[in-house]
Amino acid sequence: MNNHLMPEHTKPSFDRPRQRMVNEQLIARGINDKRVLAAMLSVPRHIFVDSALAARAYQDCALPIGCGQTISQPYMVARMTQLLELKGNERVLEIGTGCGYQTAVLSRLCRRVYSIERIEALHRRARQNLRMARHANVMLKCGDGLEGWEEYAPFDAIIVTAGGFASDLWLQQLKPGGVLLLPEGKSGTHRLVRRRKQAHIITEEYFDACTFVPLLKGVNHH
Ligand code: SAH
Repeated sequence: MNNHLMPEHTKPSFDRPRQRMVNEQLIARGINDKRVLAAMLSVPRHIFVDSALAARAYQDCALPIGCGQTISQPYMVARMTQLLELKGNERVLEIGTGCGYQTAVLSRLCRRVYSIERIEALHRRARQNLRMARHANVMLKCGDGLEGWEEYAPFDAIIVTAGGFASDLWLQQLKPGGVLLLPEGKSGTHRLVRRRKQAHIITEEYFDACTFVPLLKGVNHH
């Protein structure tokens, strides 16, 4: 039976594995933004994966979400979110909605999240997942994130959850002082980079080496 359809009293509780995930995978590795930790503790990660994988949702790894894509490892979601330094009033653009998990975490930490996914089937699933997790401050669209989302620009922050090279439009669609965070580089050798759009210059900081699914052009009507 689909876990989401089970009567409340027979549902397995995921509170304990989620608490352990936060302690062992996040706090132990240096995630220390209290708001990020609270968001990671409150978003039910298991509802964003297929019910057959729910028992593995809190493990220290990425998991398949269909269409050859993955939900990022909990640590990577927390790490990237922490690097955005959200205070609560921001409008954030996410490129690569996937199953919507990172979107849900962001939505608890800022005013509004705009998230773009290029694979239609995943876009639809994310919409269902986010409805189930009751996120009202999220706008989703199926499209090519390399184009940004002009209609709602400028953003306080842009986070890219697929690996590749930045589109020029992203910096253009940031507010002054805004940050762009992405796993940059060729396939298999990405590194997190944070660029900040200052008045006349762009500052750049490099962080963790990581591996993400590729950032691809165009829309997939799958
Ligand atoms: N944040 C997601 C991670 C999903 S993996 C989560 O928590 O589940 C990255 C996603 O980026 C994939 O679903 C992939 O289809 C999508 N993607 C890749 N290139 C894209 C593009 N140009 N525009 C929008 N989405 C893209």
